[in-house]
Amino acid sequence: MCKEGNDIGSKLVVVSGPSGAGKDTIAAEIIKLDGKFSLSVSATTRAPREGEVDGVNYFFLSEDEFLRNIKENAFIEYAKYSSNYYGTLKRDVQSKIAEGKIIILVIDVQGAEKIKREYPDSLSLFIMPPSKEILRQRLNDRMTEDNADIEKRIKIAEDEMKKRSSYDYVVVNDDLNAAVSEVYDIITKSH
Ligand code: 5GP
Repeated sequence: MCKEGNDIGSKLVVVSGPSGAGKDTIAAEIIKLDGKFSLSVSATTRAPREGEVDGVNYFFLSEDEFLRNIKENAFIEYAKYSSNYYGTLKRDVQSKIAEGKIIILVIDVQGAEKIKREYPDSLSLFIMPPSKEILRQRLNDRMTEDNADIEKRIKIAEDEMKKRSSYDYVVVNDDLNAAVSEVYDIITKSH
């Protein structure tokens, strides 16, 4: 990781929490509500899911390409989640900051910790599912992972949820509209 410019942190909003908590959906709604926010498009070695588009949902890279990007210092942060790499691209964040946007990073807990350490001025939110049962239900319902991957994600979620007290805010996503309003209020008050 490399810190460039003092005010990057104040332009970063980190939305983290377990897979299936609804953080991507919430972030997408925030972008629709207010044009000053923009989503960071991460790079990943995970295979695209049906309907996902390269450069829109993620930049889909081979492991070799991802490792080359690590060597070239292209990431603000990166982490291995489940069996794949995920990383926030410096050039994507910088170009959006240059456009005057506040950047929302939807990333896992490891990445969120790195961003907070490197950019203490960033705002961090943890999205909680209402219960473990509902989390499992949501992961099952979206039908994007097989059973083994769902079990892996639930195990990771249990560890992730233990870390929620280190975030600036914790939002429980029970009702989507209510969670979107709560997140929007929090980030507009800070920005
Ligand atoms: P998924 O495979 O469900 O798209 O993502 C798995 C996890 O990786 C999710 O928690 C997602 O938010 C996280 N993730 C996505 N992009 C990044 C990133 O750039 N960095 C980190 N650290 N995690 C990410």
